[in-house]
Amino acid sequence: MQLYGTSKITENGELSIGGCPVSQLTETYGTPLYVYDEDFIREQMRAYKRPFERAHLPHRIAYACKAFCTIGMCQLADSEGLWLDIVSEGELYTAIRAGIHPSHMCMNGNNKSDHELRYAVEVGVGLIVVDNFYEIDLLASILHEQNRSMDILLRVAPGVEAHTHEFISTGQQDSKFGFDLKSGQVQQAVKQVKEHKELQLVGLHSHIGSQIFDVEGFRLAAHRLAEQYAWLLQNYELHLHVLNLGGGLGVRYTEEDTPTPIETLTEELIAVTKEAFLTHGMDLPLLMLEPGRSIVAQAGTTLYTVGSRKEIPHVRTYVAVDGGMTDNPRLALYGAKYEAALAMRMHEQPTESIAIAGKCCESGDMLIWDAPLPQSHPGDLLAITCTGAYNYSMASHYNRIPNPAAILVKDGTARTIVKRETVEDLCRFDVRLE
Ligand SMILES: *Cc1c(COP(=O)(O)O)cnc(C)c1O
Repeated sequence: MQLYGTSKITENGELSIGGCPVSQLTETYGTPLYVYDEDFIREQMRAYKRPFERAHLPHRIAYACKAFCTIGMCQLADSEGLWLDIVSEGELYTAIRAGIHPSHMCMNGNNKSDHELRYAVEVGVGLIVVDNFYEIDLLASILHEQNRSMDILLRVAPGVEAHTHEFISTGQQDSKFGFDLKSGQVQQAVKQVKEHKELQLVGLHSHIGSQIFDVEGFRLAAHRLAEQYAWLLQNYELHLHVLNLGGGLGVRYTEEDTPTPIETLTEELIAVTKEAFLTHGMDLPLLMLEPGRSIVAQAGTTLYTVGSRKEIPHVRTYVAVDGGMTDNPRLALYGAKYEAALAMRMHEQPTESIAIAGKCCESGDMLIWDAPLPQSHPGDLLAITCTGAYNYSMASHYNRIPNPAAILVKDGTARTIVKRETVEDLCRFDVRLE
């Protein structure tokens, strides 16, 4: 198993994260437990900024908080000078509760409601990424009513496919997101925006997918977008000065994944975008990026307690843990792969290949199909790495299983960022029939 960030193996073969031996964490907080490595999260955020700072380029990195959206996480991003990318009333509310200034927020989404847009306008979010024709008129009418104006970007589907898995691909032409470039919807949208003086169009936005390992898809998107910037300048005398290339940088879940490191990819992104705009005789606009997964995925580890075991001779051995698809639905949803280790016996060699199952009433409730592990016993601590993104944020209450706690570890100290739910919490909204 690959260790990330500040994760280490102690002399007695125990996993420690942020200077905290995991057995001390689970003694205090129980299992399952999401453990987040604070230094590592901050380092990932800084890695995005360094290439811009070295080149003295204006930039805006917005943490796509859907990857892990809690008050504490929003505070961390803000303290590193990042903006927040939000997509719903709940994410906006969380960011506000975290004390983030709304002018440092950018709002995405393909079906923002009247209520959500009103909320965003009232608090004064910095930027709205308008996704469709309906939203252009809806947002304009809300702004008109309130006698306000707003900076917007238009989300463009540039027809670039940059992911290996259909379910999480969003940049190709057949997508629910954004204005289609190929059929001229972008130019039509710009025309419609120009009819509303409340809408200040400052640039275009594209997010070409997820779990992207290299710059090629971005290069293609940047060229197509630069062409649009040039066209809009020529035909509409529109000077768009912001370009948002979205998020999507991939991470290493297992040895099959070979992403370019954040800092290198960011350097390459700047280079290919510069080149694209130069080709059209234009300067580089203010570049905006919206990474989610690459900020938090590898900084998160989930700790479980091993329970039952089922051996089917010549078929498979299942070992079940005290969580599952309720805290990590990504295998069930996308066939995602993970690595695991027995957290108290990190030095031991694997002796068997194990299928790690959850505890839900669902055959698809699996965490890993083939984890090489030493012989495990009930009560052993099991760690699954790279669970920081799209785990807590996609957690469910299936089988009325409470959501685990999440803690932030650093320099030998742990802080709670999400409390463990109780069974009373699960019944909080139930109404007893009289
Ligand atoms: C999901 C999403 C992101 C973040 O994607 P990651 O793969 O987590 O980096 C950024 N922008 C938009 C519009 C998104 O939908």
